[in-house]
Amino acid sequence: MAALQIEQFSCRSDNYGVLIHDPETGATASIDAPEEGPILDALKRTGWSLSHVLVTHHHFDHVEANMALKKAFGATIIGPKNEKNEIPGIDQRVGEGDEFQFGSYTVKVIETPGHTLDHISYYLPQAMTAFTADTLFALGCGRVFEGTPVQMHQSLQKLSALPEETTIYCGHEYTKANADFAVTVDPENRALRERSSHIHSLRAAGKPTLPTTIGIEKATNPFLRADDRKIRIHLGMEDATDAEVFTEIRLRKDNF
Ligand code: ZN
Ligand code: FE
Repeated sequence: MAALQIEQFSCRSDNYGVLIHDPETGATASIDAPEEGPILDALKRTGWSLSHVLVTHHHFDHVEANMALKKAFGATIIGPKNEKNEIPGIDQRVGEGDEFQFGSYTVKVIETPGHTLDHISYYLPQAMTAFTADTLFALGCGRVFEGTPVQMHQSLQKLSALPEETTIYCGHEYTKANADFAVTVDPENRALRERSSHIHSLRAAGKPTLPTTIGIEKATNPFLRADDRKIRIHLGMEDATDAEVFTEIRLRKDNF
């Protein structure tokens, strides 16, 4: 199996576009379709021809270019089932535990509701890579719009159970603001402090802070660390459940 090739680029104000390409079969997917122009530029730059769009959820900044890409390339659009806000141009509806082929790779679907009820993440075990869009961010997690904090916590726990070496691509560049918040709930975490200063220098140089890995997030992302003793003591929640600690952290971030 040839190594999966990945092209990440910024679009809209703070979204990331990502193309994945299997050199063996030529299969190429856009993870979400945030904006037509930058996706077309990335296809031109790489010389890849689009075969799929893998949609994570119905928000406009993730599906805006669906129809344009479908029209231009005849791309197959795969995405979550959602009767209320149907994914534009959807050809194949997938849910928890579903698997499909992308070129020579198997893609596993993980339902990760919370930010929206339809949110799914895509995991390619053979490439040790997952696309978590607006569920798991570097040092953060998505705002809970449609689901509940408990649901979001469960979704993040599922992602947290992936192998630590798993590379994670996310939907937005929110890392600097996330880092500034994270140090307020986990001030004694040295790995977090070091990461935070690294992130500040990356952003000052205009560089992306993504992708990340599950291992890095488990060590530094407070939203994956509700079971951490020091965080619990800091919040005065030593006897609370993990879900309660998570909910408190999410609430504090909303008001940060
Ligand atoms: Zn969203
Ligand atoms: Fe988004």
